[in-house]
Amino acid sequence: MTSPYLRPGLPAPLPSDLDRPYWEGLRDERLLIQRCKRCARFQWGPEWICHRCLNVDLGWTEVEPRGFIYSHQRVWHPVHPALREQGPYVIVLVTIAHADEVRVVGNLLGDPLQDLVIGAEVQGVFEHHADADPAYTLLQWRYAR
Ligand SMILES: [Zn+2]
Repeated sequence: MTSPYLRPGLPAPLPSDLDRPYWEGLRDERLLIQRCKRCARFQWGPEWICHRCLNVDLGWTEVEPRGFIYSHQRVWHPVHPALREQGPYVIVLVTIAHADEVRVVGNLLGDPLQDLVIGAEVQGVFEHHADADPAYTLLQWRYAR
């Protein structure tokens, strides 16, 4: 098991009725994205209503955790006290092309000084925080080979 990308001390995710399937999916190493049961459109983040057709009957569909870097930020001055001694680190916004180009956020694993390439393909990595109470998993990213 690899150590988490960011130092301990950050608040753990608090799943709600709205996004619980996402967090439970990550614990099983599955990326679930919300999808409308009527128009079949993906959307992210989770909402109570479909933004396209206003249907309230939404479900979840497993998608392959692969995408492309849409945007990035290399953080040199973290604002959270737990990350005071960490830096830089990299945040990426990833487009999931095969899920209506929804965008999800995570960290780009590896050297924080590596080149950051808009449009580069990335592969999801499930980062388990098994010692947390309750345990949770984050979706992180690395460059696809
Ligand atoms: Zn819809």
